[in-house]
Amino acid sequence: MIALTAREFHLFQAAGRDFLYLVPSAAIFALDAPSAAVIRTISERKRAEEAVVAALADRFDAATIRAAIRELLDVRAIGHEHEPAPEARTSRLLPMMPFPLSTMVLNVTNQCNLACTYCYEYGEDKIVDTEHGRQSKFMSERTAHESVEFLLRESGRIAHLTFFGGETLLNFSVLKSTMAYARRRAAEEGKEIDFSLTTNATLLKPEIIDFLAENHVGVTVSIDGPRELQNKFRVFHNGAGSYDIVAPRIKELLRVHRTRPIGARVTLTSETLDIRRIYRHLTEEIGFWEVGFAPVTTSSNQPYAIGEHGFERLLDQFRALAYEFLEQVAVNRHHGFSNVKDTLEEIHKGVSKAYPCGAGLGLLGVSTDGDVALCHRFAGSDAHRLGDVRSGIDRAAQAAFLERHHIDEKTDCSRCWARPLCSGGCYHEAHVRYGATTRPNLHYCEWIRGWTDTCLRIYGELSERNPQFLERFDRDEAKAEAVL
Ligand code: SF4
Ligand code: SF4
Repeated sequence: MIALTAREFHLFQAAGRDFLYLVPSAAIFALDAPSAAVIRTISERKRAEEAVVAALADRFDAATIRAAIRELLDVRAIGHEHEPAPEARTSRLLPMMPFPLSTMVLNVTNQCNLACTYCYEYGEDKIVDTEHGRQSKFMSERTAHESVEFLLRESGRIAHLTFFGGETLLNFSVLKSTMAYARRRAAEEGKEIDFSLTTNATLLKPEIIDFLAENHVGVTVSIDGPRELQNKFRVFHNGAGSYDIVAPRIKELLRVHRTRPIGARVTLTSETLDIRRIYRHLTEEIGFWEVGFAPVTTSSNQPYAIGEHGFERLLDQFRALAYEFLEQVAVNRHHGFSNVKDTLEEIHKGVSKAYPCGAGLGLLGVSTDGDVALCHRFAGSDAHRLGDVRSGIDRAAQAAFLERHHIDEKTDCSRCWARPLCSGGCYHEAHVRYGATTRPNLHYCEWIRGWTDTCLRIYGELSERNPQFLERFDRDEAKAEAVL
């Protein structure tokens, strides 16, 4: 008799029961007791159906076990030995081209009034020489308007325009005129356009805040937490900390700009890993609606790089904050830990990524001179150029990029259960760590798998305790599809 064998899944427990995360389909199943017992029995070692029935005979009758086996075969959690395993949904599928551009990140300047020690634009890890390189320091109004035309040509019905830097607000005049131009041109083209920006908050004057509020601009503030943590790395060129300058400006922004939720984006280093304290400060004392954390992108020899033990600490703290999130949203209260919310949304939608992010696909970065690159972090890099806003996307370069970076090309990831959500991780980080965007970020696999497991457990808990919270991700999707 042909033996039954376990396929590719991750088994986890939540709300007192077992769940399966099926890797090829990125689907989740709650298991009843017989199915869980069958899965465990077959995972120990492959066995014929009769042997499974015999092994579990003291707990379940034969008909129940056979029914559980049929169900598990149907969802392909188990299979018959020698039969080919199911292919991943992403396998060998290259996106349909031309792929519509959804988000354009416009680097309106590559200059900054801060000199954050860890900054990828200015430190030793920089890709583009923003001091002596050929790119202009500030984007001209003409290039910005040409970029808008490019976005409207390449986008679907909805286009997202994100302003970025350097410090974005150093080129506020171009930002302002570009928004007016983009709004007018989008209306003429029958498209919707949405605006957002990232800022270090140092230049948030009252008139700028009023403009952002009146124009419904989504704002993300880069900030690292309370005074001593912010001032460790986020300093002016003379070394002075920026906390006392930015804190009152951010409070004013939050007071005046009520039309869209404003988020904080925290860069974590080995010296600033106090996540719960940072979260409390930014939400309770400053007043942010949401806080997202990202480990610093740097080569491993920098003193502030997060090492193995740092990632363990990071995971412990992320977990603790994620369970706080769970307890709040389980009773329909807001919690602003955006990392967990974003991952829950991906899990709920069954995301199975062929690529780690939209860079080079639905998201492109534009340099100050109008060169198009993978994303904002590569904007201005000749080696990562994918055309320019005047002549359009270099489709051959884009196709070659997508071919070389597909998850199927990352053999190290091929047996990893977390690959539907990770897909090898950020290209920029891979470039900085390993010198090649094609390499998976193997230095943080344990952290990624630990974090994905945590989010799956939270998902399982919420599916029992407050499924309506998860269903709102469907409503968001339905809304998005209705306007596409
Ligand atoms: S980088 Fe690591 S965690 Fe991510 S998919 Fe590859 S092996 Fe898995
Ligand atoms: S490559 Fe990295 S920085 Fe660029 S969009 Fe992707 S995740 Fe973000």
